[in-house]
Formats: sequence, structure tokens, C-alpha cells
Amino acid sequence: MLTEMDWDHVSSASHTPSGAESARNYERGAYLSVHLARWFAHMGYRAVAQNTRHYDIALPPLAVDAGLGEIGRLGYLIAPCFGARVRIFATLTDMPLIPDRPISIGVDEFCKRCKKCAESCPSKSIPMGEKIVHRGALKWKLNEDSCFEYWSKVGTDCSICMAVCPFSRLVASGKVTEHDVFEIHLLIEPYAASEAAKRASSKDIDDLHTLLTMAEENIDDAEYLQRIRGKFHIRLARCTGNPILLLLMNALIELLRQYFLDFKELPLEKKAMEANKEILDAITERNPEKAAKLMRMEILTIKKYAESWAATKAKRKPL
Ligand code: SF4
Ligand code: SF4
Repeated sequence: MLTEMDWDHVSSASHTPSGAESARNYERGAYLSVHLARWFAHMGYRAVAQNTRHYDIALPPLAVDAGLGEIGRLGYLIAPCFGARVRIFATLTDMPLIPDRPISIGVDEFCKRCKKCAESCPSKSIPMGEKIVHRGALKWKLNEDSCFEYWSKVGTDCSICMAVCPFSRLVASGKVTEHDVFEIHLLIEPYAASEAAKRASSKDIDDLHTLLTMAEENIDDAEYLQRIRGKFHIRLARCTGNPILLLLMNALIELLRQYFLDFKELPLEKKAMEANKEILDAITERNPEKAAKLMRMEILTIKKYAESWAATKAKRKPL
């Protein structure tokens, strides 16, 4: 599991508020992981909380396997919505669970070019070059010793790399409005649909069909349909083969999910599913103009529903 570190505090790095926010999140993670462990134990399973007071395993690789994000050049996990502004915790258990799978949000490709964290690191602990094999894993190898030495010098846990990483900043300010999100959505997704119609492989098309079949099998479950809708749009962006587009789409879908946490409208979801079927038909027909036009119409429909819902909602969910 992850906890989100507040952007205003992280952006103060390397000053005290960023260190305080880090400590606050270690405490939040300890609380959550211990409560989860106690809950599992009450149900008769073994459970061990993994947090700042007790680690049996390294958590970043586990978080990658659990599909929570990817490891960036800076050596931290980068999560789809919060970027590197997260702390990782876990509860180990023998409870039978359905495993998640690693995800790709384009971090690898982005980090190859970006290097902002390495350039900004005051102790030069983040490599500018390629990944190396370290203890059997191919990774950008952070120099933990020089990083920690710098922490001792400044008296905080620095976090400059976390603050400068574009993934942390992309959706972090809390000043992003739903208008901003839909504006970008309308800009990039018709393009993604049109490019998908040109570039999608037969495997891509099969995967999109599978998602829509899953939706049809749960046609009266608005929450499920909404989740599949998000996955459909992300999978469609993946068809383009452009990792930046995929990254943006992941961020957009996550933002929309956060804005409209309580917004689960079955008529809208059914409408969107029908629209997605038509978009997929246009992609299968290799008709980029039609795919883009249908996508634009779908986004405008969702925008209209979402705006009227937001207008009637007295208190907006915070980002
Ligand atoms: S925490 Fe600071 S010193 Fe350590 S790697 Fe990040 S920027 Fe460099
Ligand atoms: S700052 Fe750039 S290179 Fe460093 S982790 Fe973030 S995206 Fe990757």
C-alpha cells in the first residue's frame, strides 16, 4: 500500500516541512499496516506489518510486483497519480489473495531522457548514465551512502529528487480543476484513438474486446463499468506505442477517478460502454477520423454528466 505525501510540504525540499511530511507518512503507514495485520489476524490468518518499525523485506520491488508503480532513476517508486511523493508499506499474510500484476506508466522511457533528479541531486548520488545489474536486478543504482551522508549534513531527509521529479508535480498542486482535466482529455484522447486506429495490433484489438466483454458481463454494476472504462482508455493509449501518451492517460484517468469518487451513474456508464464499442469498431475498421470523432463525443458526454453532478455537489472531493 502507498500513502501520499502532501505536495506543498514535499515542494519545500530540502527544508524541514518535507522531512516532517516524510515522518508523518511513516507514521500513517505504520498505523495502516498494523491495523490491517490485526484485521487479518482476527480472521485467522498470519499477518506481519511492514513499516518503519519492522521490515522483513525490501518494499519497492514488492510494490512494483503489486502494480503500484515503477522504479524511477531516482530509486524511488513512481506511482501513477502521485509520482514519487509516496511512502510504501505492506502487510504480509498467508491469506489467499488474487495477485496483482506490474503496470507500465512509461517511467522507464521517460527517465532515460529526463535526468532532472540526477542533475538536481546535491550529493550526485543519482546516476546520469545507464542502468546496471545490481544484486541480480537491472536498475539505476542510487548511491545510498552519499545520499545519506547529505541527509546528515542538512539535518532533513533532503527529498529534492522527489520534489523535482515531473511525475510528482504533474498532478500534485491541488490547483488542477476538472475543466483542466477535460481540456487535456479532449486534446489527447481523440488523437490517441486516431493513432490506435492506425497502429493497433490484432492483440491490442483482442485486449480491448476482452475489456468490453467483461463490462457486458457486469452491465448493471456502475462501479465496475467505470473501472473498465478507465482500463479501456488506458489500453487504447497503449495501442499507440507512445509511452508519454500512456503516462498522460494514466494520470488523467487517475485524476478523473479522484474527482468523481462518488460519481457512479449507471446510465452514463452504459452509454460510455456503447460509445467504446463504436470506437473499437472504428479502430478495427482502421478508420482514424471516425475513431477520433467518436472519442471526442464520448468525452463530451462524460464531461456534461460530470459537470452537472459537480454543480449539485455541495462539497467537492479534494484532489
Ligand atoms: S534525497 Fe537528496 S541527496 Fe538523496 S538522492 Fe535525492 S536529491 Fe540526492
Ligand atoms: S526526475 Fe526525471 S529521471 Fe528522475 S525519476 Fe523523475 S522522471 Fe525519472
